[in-house]
Amino acid sequence: MSAVADLTAKGAALAAARAGNFADLPVYDRARECAPREEIRALQLEKLKAQVAWTYERVAWYRERMDALGVAPGDIRTLEDVQKLPFTDKSVLRDTFPYGLFAVPLDEVVELHASSGTTGKPIVVGYNAHDMDVWSDCIARLAQMAGVVPGDRVQMAFGYGMFTGGFGLHYGCQKLGCMMIPAGSGNTERHIAMIGDYGTTVLIATPSYALHLCEVGERLGFDWEASTLRVGLFGGEPCPPGLKAEIEERMHIVCTDNYGLTEVMGPGVSGECLASRDMQHIAEDHFLWEVVDPETGEPVGEGEMGELVLTPLDKQAIPVLRYRTHDLTRVVCEPCACGRTSARMQKVRARCDDMLIIRGTNVFPSQVEDVLSGIQGVTPHYRIVVETVNGLDRMTVHVELKPEAFSDSYQEMEDLRRSIEERLKGVLLVGVRVKLVEPGGIERTTGKAKHVEDLRK
Ligand SMILES: [Zn+2]
Repeated sequence: MSAVADLTAKGAALAAARAGNFADLPVYDRARECAPREEIRALQLEKLKAQVAWTYERVAWYRERMDALGVAPGDIRTLEDVQKLPFTDKSVLRDTFPYGLFAVPLDEVVELHASSGTTGKPIVVGYNAHDMDVWSDCIARLAQMAGVVPGDRVQMAFGYGMFTGGFGLHYGCQKLGCMMIPAGSGNTERHIAMIGDYGTTVLIATPSYALHLCEVGERLGFDWEASTLRVGLFGGEPCPPGLKAEIEERMHIVCTDNYGLTEVMGPGVSGECLASRDMQHIAEDHFLWEVVDPETGEPVGEGEMGELVLTPLDKQAIPVLRYRTHDLTRVVCEPCACGRTSARMQKVRARCDDMLIIRGTNVFPSQVEDVLSGIQGVTPHYRIVVETVNGLDRMTVHVELKPEAFSDSYQEMEDLRRSIEERLKGVLLVGVRVKLVEPGGIERTTGKAKHVEDLRK
């Protein structure tokens, strides 16, 4: 246990990773996470067969769809046979609201969660005791992957509502052996005081809220370097690499982000290890992944970009088959330097439905983020506004400046503004307007940052 104990020193986990000492870093479930790939695939196949049979027998919606496609549970003989099954889209969960897809009697369900729909009814999911176990296990793994160890004091800045993020990470970190500090969302000054008072070592937050916390702390004179805080576990929204690097430097912590979605479980589908920081290990014994062409639904070539499709392999209360995430990624299966053998997905930076079409050109907000992260004097806060002017699309990027870059000289500001416009145009291949915003001028949120306002009719 000495290696584990040493990791509680600030920066130790990251330093060990940088030095390539992965043997020192703990793995929560080594037998599963580092299993030979043939073993993982054999387990996946065994679980897939059982999951399809479970779903077919208990959920009328799937039974009807599979009958219509002429596919029976017995037709699943290889992992590739998953392609014979129907896709599930968010709309299915909405149309069967609230309990239409449930596969167990409601008195077996121990917890309900929901994700807010932008229109109409929310998406409701349920968990029985088995599902709760699997869920906490997946979270315990990703927390340990990030260098969290038993005994860590974990402060939660996610809300504890119907949203899966708060409770999911709470249970998982508790299972790992951490002390949970359920502060909840909002009240930034109280969060900072609690870090000091309780000796918090791990912060769970969205990356944009972590940066906000960092800035408020700096203004209040809180010494992040001297604080006990060591690790940031981020989720709820994509974390651009520039933003992560900035938070790590200013708060003196190591930050990883993890991925999941309510429809298939919540957080816990995949998490970042300290050896492969642009990728996330998928909990493959619990999720079968596919990457498909978003237009045709056909599989893309190995390692190519496409839409991630997930089939949970261990979900009893509300099983979903081939859930279309609308998240764009690619997956690689080469072994990772951390010793884990599970496949890794590239961090999701874009969703099929995030794509903006500006005068016929496809533009992703993540491209804007990447350009801004390479420009000095610019904060990671921005907003894209799209409108129609004289019948044409006009995209304006509001870019927030750091205090040191903010100047009284009109000429300097105008030069900076134009250079950002040029760089954006070079990447997006379409002209955009840039508006510079004073430091703190872009509204901060405690939840997911809202980056795009599309005012076109
Ligand atoms: Zn790894």
